Amino acid sequence: MEGVKRMKLSIEQACPFCGQFIAIGIDEDTPEEERAAQAKAKCGCPQAARERDIREAMDKLEQICGADAVNNGFDYPLDDETMEICRRMIGYLIDEAVGEVQIRCVRGDRLKLKSDGKIVRITRKCQKQMML
Ligand SMILES: [Zn+2]
Repeated sequence: MEGVKRMKLSIEQACPFCGQFIAIGIDEDTPEEERAAQAKAKCGCPQAARERDIREAMDKLEQICGADAVNNGFDYPLDDETMEICRRMIGYLIDEAVGEVQIRCVRGDRLKLKSDGKIVRITRKCQKQMML
């Protein structure tokens, strides 16, 4: 016998930011917070859009500077303090309180985070140098 089939439901869920009802597809046992997350992911209100823009920038930061950096060709991930500074700056960049941030890391990496208020571009440069 097959396992119990979960019921797929199509419901209207309020966006936690603006209260607008958004159609989402869920399983009957999908918890409330996951339902709210789905509504936020689909809502067109400015707060929901801001949260998506921030998440996208955080993902990029992880890829270039975080644990994923090594898989993307860098020798090491940046230290926690630098990561924390960058994460904090992303909110300011998305809000256009800051247009661009440049950081020179102790190990020589240069970071640039630049925003147009919607997309944060992150550049990491590390100069390898050798002297014999
Ligand atoms: Zn909303």
